[in-house]
Amino acid sequence: MDCIFCKIANKELPAVISYEDPDVVVFDDLHPRAPIHKLIIPRKHISTLNDLAESDKPLAGHLMYTAQRLAKELGIAEDGYRVVMNCNAGAGQAVFHIHLHLLGGRAMTWPPG
Ligand code: 5GP
Ligand code: ZN
Repeated sequence: MDCIFCKIANKELPAVISYEDPDVVVFDDLHPRAPIHKLIIPRKHISTLNDLAESDKPLAGHLMYTAQRLAKELGIAEDGYRVVMNCNAGAGQAVFHIHLHLLGGRAMTWPPG
């Protein structure tokens, strides 16, 4: 499958990886939108949030828990951080392998554009 995030997870494409385990990989976004901008992906290829199966619920929780744990490790948990998953092109999804954006290190406004 021609998926850049599968290739990053399989080390076929380079990335600055900050965490990995049997199910999840975390790496720096190539075009960071904040001082800290990590992408948290499952190793399993799931194209969009719409394609998440009921059996993927533990994996989805693992992604979210990884975001929380990393935010604490990176020292942004107290000030605040944002976790985002875009679903489909209308919401800005450009890479069709689900990923959480973990953004922090600066003040952020709400609502987003
Ligand atoms: P989306 O718009 O799909 O929610 O987010 C995709 C993100 O992936 C973007 O923030 C973009 O900068 C990042 N990205 C795209 N291609 C690459 C790549 O090859 N390597 C890394 N590390 N990030 C990428
Ligand atoms: Zn993929």
